[in-house]
Amino acid sequence: MNKPAELKLAAVPLWIGGKAVSPAAARMGDVFNPATGQVVRRVPYCDAAWVDKAVAAATSALPAWRDAPPLRRARVMQEFLSLLKKHQKQLAAIVTEEHGKTLPDAMGSVQRGLEVVEFACGIPQLLKGEYSENVGTQVDTHTVRQPVGVCAGITPFNFPVMVPLWMFPVAIACGNSFILKPSEKDPSAAIRMAELLQEAGLPDGVFNVVHGDKAAVDALLNHAGIHAVSFVGSTPIAKYIYETAARGGKRVQALGGAKNHAVVLPDADLEFAADALIGAAYGSAGERCMAVSAVVAVGAAADKIVKLLEQKARKLKVGPGERDGIDMGPLVTCQHRDKVAAFIDQGVKEGAKLVLDGRGLKVKGHEEGFFLGTTLFDHVTPQMEVYKHEIFGPVLVVLRAGTLDEAIALVNRNPYANGVALFTESGGAARRFENEVSVGMVGVNVPIPVPVAYYSFGGWKNSLFGDLHVHGVEGVKFYTRTKVVTTRWPHQDTPAPGLNMPTLG
Ligand code: NAD
Repeated sequence: MNKPAELKLAAVPLWIGGKAVSPAAARMGDVFNPATGQVVRRVPYCDAAWVDKAVAAATSALPAWRDAPPLRRARVMQEFLSLLKKHQKQLAAIVTEEHGKTLPDAMGSVQRGLEVVEFACGIPQLLKGEYSENVGTQVDTHTVRQPVGVCAGITPFNFPVMVPLWMFPVAIACGNSFILKPSEKDPSAAIRMAELLQEAGLPDGVFNVVHGDKAAVDALLNHAGIHAVSFVGSTPIAKYIYETAARGGKRVQALGGAKNHAVVLPDADLEFAADALIGAAYGSAGERCMAVSAVVAVGAAADKIVKLLEQKARKLKVGPGERDGIDMGPLVTCQHRDKVAAFIDQGVKEGAKLVLDGRGLKVKGHEEGFFLGTTLFDHVTPQMEVYKHEIFGPVLVVLRAGTLDEAIALVNRNPYANGVALFTESGGAARRFENEVSVGMVGVNVPIPVPVAYYSFGGWKNSLFGDLHVHGVEGVKFYTRTKVVTTRWPHQDTPAPGLNMPTLG
């Protein structure tokens, strides 16, 4: 499809043991520029044998890296941080080319990832354990945090730099080695980051990249040499990853999809709320796990907020992400664009009021691009498919509720629970909302409450399978195992241990 025949397309390499490797893979996939609809490069789909080579490289690099002082590991992260800053524009351009989001948006996403590297630079402090003197007479106890081993990260298409950076800087700083399996839709940024890590002084084999689809993922999940798996992607796959990896005895965190609500109370500054919601709903063409895709308008807020949203959404400029002044780029693939458009058809069929219709949009000079315009539905009910599913496109639905209680109950009935926001001027309402809502990340007058790197990121319910969130202190906990050491130095005057359960008194 749309492959420039005259060009011999480059294949994105794997990265194993510190080298770019181009396997003669039986299966190859196309990587598109979504703004032009053209194939820009190809990507090999690894089988179990290639995954095995990556695990072998990660396993042989592990002992020396595990024993490297945390300060030395932190210095590699500091070097990586300055290289990421130096090459931030280049990384953002790669993201825009293969994903489609606008350049400023891509720059912002690289920045948020880079902040996790800043966090990982503090690893000597973060790995400090506890110490208790005299837990019994002349007996002391201390804890140490040791790396888990070889870790794998499997990441989605929508943040090809930021989401991998949620994982591997923390894992590596903790003394683990890592294998990344980025999305096959936009695999190039992972290889550029591998090169930068090497330039930063990371020993070969500590970071590796394999590409592919289910076959590569299954090989990682079933490999006895992998000890922990971090996943970010859609809910059905997250559940599968969690169950399969856990069955194999691996530590696993699997972040899933989302349907994020914004509740708007009548006392809110509606102009401010509408501006915030436009960015949260249509930024990155709605392809964000923290995108607001459902507004719950309470009472008298409803008609006013719908009007404001319609006026503002209509003005957004849709076009190729690298062009100045563009607000929203294309969707990632033609299939995904068609799937989102089919949801709009379905919403119309179900009787939702289509206030703004993005179907059929053509961008001049980019007629083959995977574009869809901004779409707004009003009078949506919880029974409609446009509400029940994570559409992952520029489609915002508005539901109406009579009271804050009704709105909270509606949000809490939804099986997804990644992010939620409340717009209000009332501190009391905000406090109640924050306390009662069953969602992992909450914003008050903040539409996309993505926590900064030194807090942890993760949802509840179908948005996260596993116990620990990513980055922040929870990330450090995920990538380390706690060992508790109890010490006694025998002395002439201490009684010899007997056969009874020791009470250490
Ligand atoms: P996806 O689930 O299709 O793919 C994610 C990863 O899983 C990719 O690397 C892919 O190759 C692999 N994969 C796909 N199908 C598989 C299968 N059958 N078996 C094994 N592996 C498989 O997700 P996507 O379309 O790339 O990304 C969008 C989704 O990710 C959305 O649902 C979005 O909400 C979610 N997401 C969640 C978060 C979060 O923090 N909760 C963040 C970003 C994206």
